[in-house]
Amino acid sequence: PFDVLVIGGGPAGASSAIYTARKGIRTGIVAERFGGQVLDTVGIENFISVKHTEGAKLAASLEEHVKDYNVDIMKLQRAKRLEKKELIEVELENGAVLKSKTVILSTGARWRNVGVPGEAEFKNKGVAYCPHCDGPLFAGKHVAVVGGGNSGIEAAIDLAGIVSHVTVLEFAPELKADSVLQDRLYSLPNVTVLKNVQTKEITGTDKVNGITYVQRDTGEEQHVELQGVFVQIGLVPNTDWLAGTVERTPMGEIIVDRQGATTLPGVFAAGDCTNSPYKQIIISMGSGATAALGAFDYLIRN
Ligand code: FAD
Repeated sequence: PFDVLVIGGGPAGASSAIYTARKGIRTGIVAERFGGQVLDTVGIENFISVKHTEGAKLAASLEEHVKDYNVDIMKLQRAKRLEKKELIEVELENGAVLKSKTVILSTGARWRNVGVPGEAEFKNKGVAYCPHCDGPLFAGKHVAVVGGGNSGIEAAIDLAGIVSHVTVLEFAPELKADSVLQDRLYSLPNVTVLKNVQTKEITGTDKVNGITYVQRDTGEEQHVELQGVFVQIGLVPNTDWLAGTVERTPMGEIIVDRQGATTLPGVFAAGDCTNSPYKQIIISMGSGATAALGAFDYLIRN
């Protein structure tokens, strides 16, 4: 059996595997897509000490760094079931059952898409999901934020300090964000809030040049010219397969303590699949290290 089995090969999983392998304990890593969300990213400018890098390049260095150690890498494999018996068992979709003394869950998350024409086509060409990552790329430009919940309104407030104008589009007749956030938003001079509107299309040529929406009560269609669209309608953790095992929030995020431990002894978690309040590469790597040290500590005590 493994001492530590890491499920997920993004920044959190790679960091966990390196930390445990460096303790000389038997480490395995199962990853459907090694690199995770980093593979979907173009420019990365907030990975501290590296001024600029690209997703594909960082994903390749993550893998190269893991390969430097004695880690059993199982790529293109998806975990589908976890069960604690004497050891912890993880069943893969191909039917194999892996056994380990401890497990680190680092299956990440995915941004919910609006699913309109233009969204996929202009991803990284004006369509963005992370204001902390891509906000500065739109300095002085007009952008839309799709979604009027807490994350959408936080994004709009954040972006309003960088871009020339922010147009918020909310499907419901009212914003769902906390009232303190709404008050702050409405105090800003360069924000327009559209409620009860359905996003219909993100338009562009080689990059985004506008957004088309339908006013839901009148059915009237409108088009706004702008250069960027931030989609903020939710980040979904990849944790459905864990139902009935570790405790999760109503949003599906795995609940962890300060050592990265979940509610199931011997099972740890790190990165975007957890209830960590902020989801970033550097934060995922830090929590991966925490979970690895937590798992090591557990092993020497049990
Ligand atoms: P992920 O990167 O999501 O990795 C999850 C891993 O688990 C993957 O290997 C996946 O294949 C695997 N997996 C999932 N389910 C299973 C399963 N059942 N079995 C086996 N494997 C599984 N952050 C920044 O700091 N700076 C940026 O500039 C930046 N830009 C971004 C741009 C985009 C377009 C996106 C989508 C995100 C961006 N982020 C950025 C966020 C950052 O990518 C994430 O915070 C980070 O990748 C999270 O790392 P993670 O390891 O927790 O999860």
